[in-house]
Amino acid sequence: MVVWLVGEDGRRIRAIDPFVPTCYLAAPPSIREHVFRLLRRASCRISTREVERYELGAPCPISVLEVSVHAPAQFSSLTQHLIRACPDAQFFHVDVSLPQRYFYDRELFPLVHCEADLTAEGRIQSIQALESPWDTDYGFPPLTIMELSPDSPSPNPNHGGHGSFVVRMDGEERLLEGDDADVIQRLNQLLVRQDPDILLTDWGDSYLLPRLMIMADQLRMPLELNRDPHRSIGTRKPRSYFSYGRILSHAGARILSGRLHLDRHNSFALAETGLAGLIEQARIAKVDLQQMARTTTGTGITSMQLETACRDGLLIPYRKQEPEAFKSARELLQTDQGGLVFAPIVGYHEQVGELDFSSMYPSIMVRFNISPETINCPCCRDEPAARVPEIGHHTCRHRQGLVPRTLAPLLDKRVRYKRLMAAATQPAARAVLDQRQTALKWLLVVSFGYLGYKNARFGRIEAHESVTAYSRDLLLQAKEVAERQGYRMLHAIVDSLWFVKPGAVRADYNRLAQEITERTGLSIGLEGLYHWIGFLPSRVNPLMPVPNQFVGLFDHGAMKIRGIEIRRSDAPFLVKRAQAEVLRCLSQARMLAELREQIPQALEIVRIYRRYLHDGHATVEELAITKSLSKEPQAYRHQTLSMIAAQELLARGVSLQAGDTIHYIITDADAAYLPDRARAVAGLDGTWSYDVSAYDSLLLKAALVLLTPLGVTATSLNESTAGC
Ligand SMILES: [Zn+2]
Repeated sequence: MVVWLVGEDGRRIRAIDPFVPTCYLAAPPSIREHVFRLLRRASCRISTREVERYELGAPCPISVLEVSVHAPAQFSSLTQHLIRACPDAQFFHVDVSLPQRYFYDRELFPLVHCEADLTAEGRIQSIQALESPWDTDYGFPPLTIMELSPDSPSPNPNHGGHGSFVVRMDGEERLLEGDDADVIQRLNQLLVRQDPDILLTDWGDSYLLPRLMIMADQLRMPLELNRDPHRSIGTRKPRSYFSYGRILSHAGARILSGRLHLDRHNSFALAETGLAGLIEQARIAKVDLQQMARTTTGTGITSMQLETACRDGLLIPYRKQEPEAFKSARELLQTDQGGLVFAPIVGYHEQVGELDFSSMYPSIMVRFNISPETINCPCCRDEPAARVPEIGHHTCRHRQGLVPRTLAPLLDKRVRYKRLMAAATQPAARAVLDQRQTALKWLLVVSFGYLGYKNARFGRIEAHESVTAYSRDLLLQAKEVAERQGYRMLHAIVDSLWFVKPGAVRADYNRLAQEITERTGLSIGLEGLYHWIGFLPSRVNPLMPVPNQFVGLFDHGAMKIRGIEIRRSDAPFLVKRAQAEVLRCLSQARMLAELREQIPQALEIVRIYRRYLHDGHATVEELAITKSLSKEPQAYRHQTLSMIAAQELLARGVSLQAGDTIHYIITDADAAYLPDRARAVAGLDGTWSYDVSAYDSLLLKAALVLLTPLGVTATSLNESTAGC
């Protein structure tokens, strides 16, 4: 195993750890004979022995053959060969990535501060961590970062607009210009001289690195992207996958050796949690940083569970398919379990308190010991305290399950980060703590999705059902406690509840939270007090409530906004800005009576924006609509606007796949000739104009959703803001 170390003297060292990965197989004697024959033919040293091991939740161990491969580089091809040759054998430990296995085995993790003994040739004699992944007070590792971006104004360089490259390091910016040979030569010089540990790119996976590799290849020049001269650049093909109920696309990957390549535009973790959050996830999940940046958060939580299983000496069965389709708790409940949501009481309300259960689903799993092997265990069938409310399942009272054992320290660490955040005085330190706790939040969020997903390694539908049954019960208990004290519940969804009671102040809501915590045994806290909050109606039927669509003004002046255009990526910037201005105008009000007094001013804002649109002033940036393709572009039956723009890009030779994001402008929504209806932003020249009435109606809708509950109708809004 190649391990890169940064010495205390600043040297970057390529070390080799003689790590021997193992796998296990269970098979009748005849198949074992076949396996032995195959192993004798292997080109590397292999040792075997008979051992007894447990499967998760099994009462007795089974006898398995342990196969140790003394050349880690051949582990994967060898085990894949065995799996194909022996379809009737049961394999274990074959598909856990080797860097993860190495980290589990050596009790190390990515970017760990460690102590190692090396021979003169760089062989690791011993290596141990000097810190724990559960520490909260670690600093940023001493890594140097070089940034590389395209010098192009295009929202996605893959869709057009080739330019030069920009390199940033230590606050200095350099433009790489000239012909291809100049660019490669300048870049190589910078890479060799600066020798960065991290190459942080924009569009590196899908555009920059592939383009540089082609350029160097055509010129037969070397490209010094790797620090490790013995390895070539790792590539992974682009693909689409299903996550959080949406199709997402993955731009493929360019993985470097001896240096980390991170692409800001191809990393959920980096976008959601920043570099500090990504490092936090990699450390506790023990997933290599380049991999963690590009994978789903589910891989992180799965790795943590795999480590628990390895530590306990459990066998990890081979999975042909990695699970990818799962949803977050909120989406699962909204789609499959509509009954769990208490529909909001539409309209604006004042003096409202919001109470949130913290990390509700993982907390339930830990508190009630919910895990695939603890559900309906044989030992606790008759214990009333083990029974799950409403449904017939029970959970084990005697042995803590694998999932709760994995989640408990994660929950605890997040609580510690939040405490440190509350105490932090420096904004920069606070921001880092926030990124780290957000990283943990995402791991916790997906832990529930994985519990219910049948293809997940540690998933079981009964475990999932038990969690939702407990959550329903807890929500009802919370409602009961509050109503007994004269509170009215306005809305509840998953783990958030909104209450109102005339005259109640912060201390009252805190007391209520305290009592609900005592009653349920699960921590609930006051998320905030609102001067006012509006639960907004459906756009289709103004009387219908929509869960999780609201705007609220906290008593500390910040707003919380969910579900409306401002928060949506597919709304044009102009519409978002208009809605934001209307909201800013409404936020002048502290009480409902004042809110109504703001209406004339809000209407004036809408009027000005409509005027601006009608006068033809709107720019591409203000009008662009961003949509992600939910299917392969060739698979669309209906000519939606995004499809028309996609077809335009395809015709220009751009390659698109499901999950890709495209940007377009509505040019003439009702045009009989379909290509006239919309244009891709990447292909715009001077010959376009926009569809005023299409944008006008988007603008009116965005204003109306906020103003309907205050008595403004579609007709009155249209008439009172026409004034052009
Ligand atoms: Zn039991």
